[in-house]
Amino acid sequence: MTYYCSNCWNEITKGIEVCPHCGTNQSALEQESFIQKLIRALKHPEPSTPVRAAEILGELKAREALPYLTELIKTSTDPFLVKAAASSIKEIEDKDYKNN
Ligand SMILES: [Zn+2]
Repeated sequence: MTYYCSNCWNEITKGIEVCPHCGTNQSALEQESFIQKLIRALKHPEPSTPVRAAEILGELKAREALPYLTELIKTSTDPFLVKAAASSIKEIEDKDYKNN
């Protein structure tokens, strides 16, 4: 499994204390689940972060993110984010057909 910083969403080494990209202490954020953090990141002000979060939610097939991704498509004015959210939804909903 790949690990990501809960603040900047760059890839990090498992178990690392402080993110080498943004300096955020990872254990300080651990009260939230990984999926919750990703859902929170969908509203991150830095434009590439919600796109990355949407992609990861798709990879994880996080069904609980579906209402948030759907909402994002309706409300976001960022075409890259709308595209990422749409492909993430598609990936999540394709869950049961993964074996082909
Ligand atoms: Zn970071």
